[in-house]
This record gives sequence, C-alpha cells and structure tokens, in this order.
Amino acid sequence: MAEKITMTPNFIQNMIEEDLKNGKYTEGIHTRFPPEPNGYLHIGHAKSICLNFGLAEYNHGLCNLRFDDTNPTKEDTEYVDSIQEDIRWLGFSWGNRKFYASDYFDKLYDFAVTLIKKGLAYVDDLSAEEIKAYRGTLTEPGKESPYRNRSVEENLDLFARMKAGEFADGTKVLRAKIDMASPNLVMRDTVIYRIAHVKHHRTGDKWCIYPMYDFAHPLSDAIEGITHSVCTLEFEEHRPFYDWLLDSLDFDPNTRPRQIEFARLNLTNTVTSKRKLRQLVEEGYVRGWDDPRMPTISGLRRRGYTPAAIRNFCKEIGVAKADSIVDVSMLEHEVRADLNENADRVMAVLHPLKVVITNYPEDKEEWLLADNNPVHGGHRFVPFSRTLYIEQEDFMEEPPKKYFRLKPGGEVRLKHAYIIKCEEVVKDAEGNVVELHCTADLDSKTGGKTAGRKVKGTIHWVAEKTALPAEVRLYDYLIETDENGNVPKDFIAALNKDSLEVIDNAWIEPSVKLTAAGTHYQFLRVGYFVVDPDTTPDHLVFNRVVGLRDSWAKVNK
Ligand code: ATP
Ligand code: MG
Repeated sequence: MAEKITMTPNFIQNMIEEDLKNGKYTEGIHTRFPPEPNGYLHIGHAKSICLNFGLAEYNHGLCNLRFDDTNPTKEDTEYVDSIQEDIRWLGFSWGNRKFYASDYFDKLYDFAVTLIKKGLAYVDDLSAEEIKAYRGTLTEPGKESPYRNRSVEENLDLFARMKAGEFADGTKVLRAKIDMASPNLVMRDTVIYRIAHVKHHRTGDKWCIYPMYDFAHPLSDAIEGITHSVCTLEFEEHRPFYDWLLDSLDFDPNTRPRQIEFARLNLTNTVTSKRKLRQLVEEGYVRGWDDPRMPTISGLRRRGYTPAAIRNFCKEIGVAKADSIVDVSMLEHEVRADLNENADRVMAVLHPLKVVITNYPEDKEEWLLADNNPVHGGHRFVPFSRTLYIEQEDFMEEPPKKYFRLKPGGEVRLKHAYIIKCEEVVKDAEGNVVELHCTADLDSKTGGKTAGRKVKGTIHWVAEKTALPAEVRLYDYLIETDENGNVPKDFIAALNKDSLEVIDNAWIEPSVKLTAAGTHYQFLRVGYFVVDPDTTPDHLVFNRVVGLRDSWAKVNK
C-alpha cells in the first residue's frame, strides 16, 4: 500500500510490545486471517483483515491467509476464490503464505495420537445428545463418560479404526481428557475429532474423520509459527483450552501463539452473520452475494465503496474489548470523504423536465468548459443546445418563500452555462407541467459581458440531443433497526421493502460514454454514483453509492 503505515493505539498492539519487551517472539510478529470458506466475506471480516494485516505490517512482521476448512459439508471453492479476491481488493497481500487447515490433517492426526498416548484423549461412544446431557451446566458439574477410562491401547486402536472408516457418523468421537467438573464448559472434555463420511473440497475421500475447530485452530497457528492469534470475543472462553492443548503438546511458551480476543464489529441497519447473509441470497431477497445492498465486501465493491474508505473506517473504529454498535453513517462518511476527493463531477438528471431555450438557435451546439474535480482539477467539455433537461424538483410553479431554483418569471443559472428565465409553463391535459419555455441571457456564460451577474440559484442540466439515457439504481438500507440500531431477531420481517428504487429514464452528459464498471462520479447536486457491471455500451447502469448529505459529520462536528 502506498499510504504510510500508521496504527491507532490499541490494546493488542500494547500486548505485542509487552511480549517483545519480555523477550518473547524474537523471530518477529506473525499473525493470520483465518476465514472459513463457507460464505462471502463481509464488513466485519474487513475489520479483522485490517487488524491482522495491519498489526503484521506495523510490526514489520507477516500475516498468513489460512482457510479454516475443517467442516467439509458447508465449504466450497467458490468461497475460497471470492475470499482471496476480496482481501486483495482491500489492498492486502499474503505473499506466498496461503494455507489451509486441511494441509495439516496428517499432522493434526499425529497430534491427536500423541494426546492419546499421554492419556490426555479418549474415544467416546456416547451419542451427541448424551455428551450434551453429561456435560452439565454453568451451575452443575458434568458427569464422566463411562468410556472415559479406556486404556491407551484401546483408544489408539479405536482411533485408528475411526480413521480407517470402520464406524458410522456419530457413533464415536475423540475427546480431550481434562476435567468434567471445570467451571469452564469448554474444558469438560471437549470433542476434538468427529466421524463424517463426506468428501472434502481439497482432500477428497482421504479422510472420514475431521478435527474440530477448537483442536485444529491452535495447532494450525502453532504449525505456522503464528505469534498472536487474534480472534473475536466469543472465543474468550475457549482460550484455556487453546493453552491447555499447546501445553499438553509441549509447545515452547516463549514462541508459541497467544490468543487475544477483541469485540466484533456490529453496524446499525446491517446483519454481519454469514448464515443470515446466505439466507438473504438463497431465499432471493437480494440478487446475490454481490447485491449492492449487501454488507459483503463484494456487495460494497459493487455498490461503489472504495478499499481506502473501508480501511479508513476500520482505522477510525479501532479495536476494543467491549461489544458495541457502530453507526453505519460513519462508514458512509468515509466513503463520501474518499469520493469527494477522487470522483469526477458530471451532470445527470434523474427525473427529467424538458426546457426549451426559445432564444437559442435550433441548429446550434456549443461545447462549454467544465471542471472535473476541485482537488485534482481536470476539465472536460459539455454540450449545450436549445432543448435541455433539468430536474423536476428544480422547478416549482408555486414555490415557498426561499425557493432559489426555477419558478415562473424567475431566473436561475445553469451550471457551467447561461442564466435562464422561465417565461412559460406548458402543461398536459391533466394539468401536469411537461415543459418550460425559457430565455437565456446569452452574455452570461463564462467570458461573456454579464458572466459575473449573480442569481441566487444554480442548477444542473443536460442537453437533450447529446445526453445518454441511463438506468440509475438507488439504494436504501436493507434492514430497518430499532432506535438503538439493533437488528431485530426476525430480521427477515425487518427487511426494508423500499431498499431498491430503479430509475430507467435518467439522462447523463455524454462524457461518461464507454467508461468501465467501477468508475466513480459525483452527479452534481445529486450524489455519488458508480458504473455497475451490468453496463453495456448501449445501456448505462449506475448505482448510487451515497448521497451528498453527511449525517455523520453533521452530528459529530
Ligand atoms: P460469521 O459470524 O459471519 O459466520 P465467522 O466468525 O464464523 O463469521 P470466519 O470465516 O470464521 O467467520 O471469520 C474469519 C475471521 O473473521 C475470524 O477471525 C472472525 O473472528 C473474524 N470476524 C468474523 N466476523 C467478524 C466481525 N463482525 N467483526 C470482526 N471480526 C469478525
Ligand atoms: Mg468462525
């Protein structure tokens, strides 16, 4: 990344510095981002990505990408591919360190055998329901399984036969042998291997037993030489097992990974759970994982959010140990700030009203100079001719007092062009305004005698003859939340039915012809827009990224 590496102070960085001061991790800092390839990444994952890659970068260390693919029934290579595309797009690189937990299945099996030999794991024949019943509760200790005291030899034999495929799914598991009376439920002989006769997207039919997350994760970290295993808060109560496992397998406390938890990102008006996002896709509430209303990285990309805006947002929110809900307008604020600086300005009319400049020759066409961007400069020409479109809402027949746009007998400046005066309002049989007849002060354009003449309002416009037709898609929040920003349990019932509005008769100036999907514009006075991939040379499609109004900056200045 071109930008300077900076880091908002945070407790994880403090812990890393503490470790370094104490002489730990002399080989350097090594983090990882460990997605399960069972869905598309979302904005919450972006926080974790920025944090893990950011910590590594800041400490001149490394960050691995590791697919946590230990649950073959839900995983797919489609997700593996999309995850890599999204991380790259966000601006991060894992170099040649792309790994899969499934790469370690042989090693993990050996570690399990070592535990058995140490008397620290046993094969249990209890069913899943029985294991749950024996587990006890937060207030009651658990009960030991009748199979808990099998001999090492018997356990080794049974585990080998589990691997060989002799037993049906669910008939046996391998459990850690720790303490059924532990106040921490995870420490009550947690299950570390299960039988599942299913094909894995990478290892095929080689395995019919698969390691559980709690077993595979710490060991994958240790195998890769991870120093700081950063994860979300729900894993806090799993940390004692993480440490127990590494202790039991004799990993050196000075070099082995340390688990640190932080609060996951929650956003108002947004669901950040892969399960819920999958439901939206599979039940057809959205067009796909990359629907511009989705909080997936691919959805945000299609919506026109930029990697820099998302990274800045993650920097702004920081990391904490306590759960909270971030206002989604803060993310929009970062998008607006980036596009304000980097998007070129153009003129587009979403709800057209025809205007005829009666004193402008019918066959004349002028190309007027217009500036592209207040920060980066640049110019283009926009064509002017006798018949134009303006926005319907920029004309009012009976306006309130402080209405500075066009009204009967009133004047307004057309951006980059002339001052015009409304002389006549043309209506259809129902009394709707269908056309305005105006005259232009032909000396009032740049360089003209009355160029400096001031009128109160300036409006945007496009010339009919040269304008390009466009489809414009306007988005609102997918989900309505309560006043505290909480998404209700039944989020499907809270779906906003008006989250998509399609305008299929908008007009836009011809300078945007043949621009590629992903190009951003500010439509003057309207908002920020991006060219959608549905665009073809004959059919322009734009997504509204964000409006111009910044509710976040307003509240927080
Ligand atoms: P989900 O709850 O959406 O299914 P997950 O945690 O199961 O997410 P993983 O693929 O396991 O999904 O996540 C990869 C990493 O991203 C994990 O380290 C996880 O803690 C982190 N992560 C997931 N959701 C968030 C979030 N909302 N905020 C911050 N980090 C997150
Ligand atoms: Mg997970």
